[in-house]
Amino acid sequence: MVIKARLGAVLLSALVFALPAGITLTLKHQGEQAIAAKVHLQAALTELRIQDALEWRAISDRVPFADVRQELSAARRRGSNQLSKAGSLGLSSAAVDRIVQLSTSYSQAVDEEVRLLSLGQQEQALRFDEDQVDPAFQRILPVVENAGQELERDAQRAQSLSDFGVLLTVLLFLTLVSVVQSRRRRAEVRDQTKRQGEARYRSLINQSSDLVLVVDRGGLASFLSPSAERLFASLSAVPGARQRADVLPVNLISAVDPQDQARLSAALQTSDPGRETDLEVQLTGPQGVLTFALSIQDLTTEPSVGGLVVTAHDITDRLALQGEMEHRALHDPLTGLPNRTLLNDRIEQSLRADVRAGSSTGLLLLDLDRFKQINDTFGHHHGDEVLIQVGPRLARVLRDGDTVARLAGDEFVVLLPNAGVAADLNVIAAKLQAVLEVPFHVEGVELDVEVSIGVVRSGEDGLDASTLLQRADVAMYAAKTQNLGVSLYDAAADGHSPARLALFGDLRRALERGELILLYQPKVCIQTGDVVGVEALVRWEHPERGLVLPDEFIPFTEHTGLIGPLTHHVLDVALAQARQWCDAGRPLPVSVNLSARNLLDVGLPAQVAELLAARGVAPELLHLEVTESAIMTEPVRAQQILEQLAALGVLLSIDDFGAGYTSLSQLKNLPVSELKIDKSFVMTMTEDHSNALIVRSVVDLGHNLGYTLVAEGVETEQALTALAGLGCDVAQGYHLSRPITAAAFDTWRSERAPSRLTANHV
Ligand code: C2E
Ligand code: CA
Ligand code: CA
Repeated sequence: MVIKARLGAVLLSALVFALPAGITLTLKHQGEQAIAAKVHLQAALTELRIQDALEWRAISDRVPFADVRQELSAARRRGSNQLSKAGSLGLSSAAVDRIVQLSTSYSQAVDEEVRLLSLGQQEQALRFDEDQVDPAFQRILPVVENAGQELERDAQRAQSLSDFGVLLTVLLFLTLVSVVQSRRRRAEVRDQTKRQGEARYRSLINQSSDLVLVVDRGGLASFLSPSAERLFASLSAVPGARQRADVLPVNLISAVDPQDQARLSAALQTSDPGRETDLEVQLTGPQGVLTFALSIQDLTTEPSVGGLVVTAHDITDRLALQGEMEHRALHDPLTGLPNRTLLNDRIEQSLRADVRAGSSTGLLLLDLDRFKQINDTFGHHHGDEVLIQVGPRLARVLRDGDTVARLAGDEFVVLLPNAGVAADLNVIAAKLQAVLEVPFHVEGVELDVEVSIGVVRSGEDGLDASTLLQRADVAMYAAKTQNLGVSLYDAAADGHSPARLALFGDLRRALERGELILLYQPKVCIQTGDVVGVEALVRWEHPERGLVLPDEFIPFTEHTGLIGPLTHHVLDVALAQARQWCDAGRPLPVSVNLSARNLLDVGLPAQVAELLAARGVAPELLHLEVTESAIMTEPVRAQQILEQLAALGVLLSIDDFGAGYTSLSQLKNLPVSELKIDKSFVMTMTEDHSNALIVRSVVDLGHNLGYTLVAEGVETEQALTALAGLGCDVAQGYHLSRPITAAAFDTWRSERAPSRLTANHV
């Protein structure tokens, strides 16, 4: 019988643990699947890129159409395989369907273009490409990007839920252990009492951490275990204590908090030997309110006891944990803000109130811009700190009944019950924007955060929580992509006020002390072997850390406003070096990298002109490299600045071409003369067929559009030979030289047999 019961208990507890543990593991697995799905999605995107490249090859007319068609259909097949893998691993079928649908339209457009080309209708084909094919391609990219973000959110959600599951399992374990222990102790007290009389009973309860009292029906104690004595003694230390407890008699009823006294008294009055009574009561001790689980056993008929045995188990901590669990289920663990569940509740509640009062509810969905860069640059700790500070900041401009919730990642929602008209919501949105625009301080670092806000109002925009949230998301997305979120700002407050320049002491001091130095990496003409230029690459000679690479600090400067001074410094040093080479009779163009932030700086062209004049360097000896993504951040402003730079006579290059989302046709209106093929394609082109294909296509098409083609990341002789075969103009990479100091470069240049490349490769 006993064994059976034990077995049952064991099975039950196994089940109790298996459930949350199983759910936890499942969630973890789901998270991993979402990540895997994202990898496949990325691979599908690569296949699309290959199609883009193939289509351009068809235009450049260097390959038989049959080959193009064959390669196209292979890439499509691979792409759709990857996509269905992503689907089977958790990418929503809506996303899969949408991508398939858009890809199909794109494929049809490409097929039509190839058909026109094969009929020799070159011009129609080009026009068709511009009007149909390219837009079809561009339509796919944001959908893929969104799908990627969706998967990332899934992964994050699964992760935090599985963390929660771990907590739940541990908590269940603790609860079970404590229940089992206190049951066992109680049972032992009872058995021992009955069998062995008072002496052993006393020694047992002396050791128990539970409180044991023997009281009469009026609550008056005739016995206190040592732990109970300690507790009652501490109660008497509480100001306004109701009784002194270090000496009997102690009355249990008057010791508990007033609201529980009647219940306790009733339980003592009505208990009888046949059953055990359980109840919870609160006591106020010096450390605050304690909650006890009481169990009352009627041993009034037992001669050795002659009273009611009350065992009291302190469950304060357990209740606190339980409360925390409930809180956790409704709040975001990082920021403590309400989560989506609680937000939904509150929205529904507010909507119901609207119906009664004829009011309406406002929802503002906020999404921080480029927040990922903060994480990538400073690590998650800084990102987390920013997220934590967002809620309190928003609350400052809100009313008491408003809710700030965190949906996921860097997405927040502000719920405004009883909101006014749409114009009022706009005013509030502007206030929220303004309060987030003040730089965040995290451990001495000043971080700029901007936000895009989507605004909806119940009634006109929807009648239930999910519709409203979804539409707020759409509005937010529009604000983000069209930069409307920023346009609500006071333009004067945006930009480059000195206050926004960061105070990251180290790097600023580095600039002042000349710890930032330049290395130069040669660019070599593939046909002749001549050195046709150098790229200036910045290094930080850190007094403790040694040589720090730009990837470690450039992104940081972009966030802290230091990129302006840094670029100014690099330009100045590079131009001084160019001047030296001129003076030595061996003039050489020098390339300097610009950051996305530099392309937002309307003062840049004037600065460049000034530096050129100050160093006395001809503008054509300066090349400026910008990435496609830097241009695409704010295309209109970037284009204006690039045009002003080109007007100075400075040459412009597109850096890391192929790594971003732009297609070549989007670049054709820019005053650019050079394309640098991203090193990720060049480094692998001799092993990876699809990368070789991309390099070939970019070279072909780039030439058709009149650009000079530079291959970066040339690490091997084979790559150089392959590039020579493709007709690429210039090579840069470790195979020729690593970035080196100006002095080392001078030696390298003078020791170099000028016709070495020519002999090998032409
Ligand atoms: P980037 O403009 O693409 O510069 C080329 C990077 O590729 C350099 O890394 C260079 O050392 C590396 N590289 C050159 N040849 C090879 C090769 O054969 N194989 C491989 N694996 N890598 C090669 P570095 O110097 O670490 O610079 C990284 C990035 O930092 C640059 O990429 C550029 O975007 C940025 N950067 C460097 N200097 C500056 C600067 O003065 N201002 C700004 N705004 N950005 C800079
Ligand atoms: Ca570069
Ligand atoms: Ca590059």
